[in-house]
Amino acid sequence: MSGVSLKTAYARSVALAGGLPFILPSAAIAVEPRDFLDGLDGLLLSGGGDVSPLRFGEEPLAGLGTVSRERDDFEIALALEARRRGLPVLGICRGHQLLNVALGGTLYQDIPSQVEGAISHQPPEGQAVDEFWHSIEILPASRRLALSAEEKILVNSFHHQAVKELAQGLVATARSSDGLIEAFESVEGSWILGVQFHPETLTAPYPVFLGIFGALVAAAAAHASGSNLD
Ligand code: MN
Repeated sequence: MSGVSLKTAYARSVALAGGLPFILPSAAIAVEPRDFLDGLDGLLLSGGGDVSPLRFGEEPLAGLGTVSRERDDFEIALALEARRRGLPVLGICRGHQLLNVALGGTLYQDIPSQVEGAISHQPPEGQAVDEFWHSIEILPASRRLALSAEEKILVNSFHHQAVKELAQGLVATARSSDGLIEAFESVEGSWILGVQFHPETLTAPYPVFLGIFGALVAAAAAHASGSNLD
């Protein structure tokens, strides 16, 4: 039997930002994924295992980690329905990658074996989740990463996959020094933000990261009231 689990940091960060979090069972149960969205004003896609390369037309390479067809199915259905309804979506780590794939983009299946000159994006096991690991540059195109007046900030990093080709309608808004995409946003249409790092574990020691969840909650409130925040 498969199970469903989620670290509480996601719900805590949404709540700290003024939102009311609900956790969805990311599994094939006798409910259409889209039906969950009826009572929601926004969607957060969380971290987790790898997205199957079959979703973007590639066969698995040697560095690929574990995948779940059930979870990919569920989250891609949610992402597409959220976009159809204009619901704001925040993707974190796997959620950032999943969102890009759902909208038509591709991924590096494994950074160390596919990206020459890449820095380390995955510390050794045991690294504290709220420890900074590498810097990112926030690009001028960013309208939603209201983190800091600084162009360069420090973030944590726990991923070995990364966005390769961005889906149409998305623009890169932060990059690590090796050029990999650490954040993207929608150019037009509904509110979409993806971040490759893990702000949910940074909100306690560094409250500035709450800004990401505050932006989602504000966009969700705007959607609920019938106006679109952009
Ligand atoms: Mn990284």
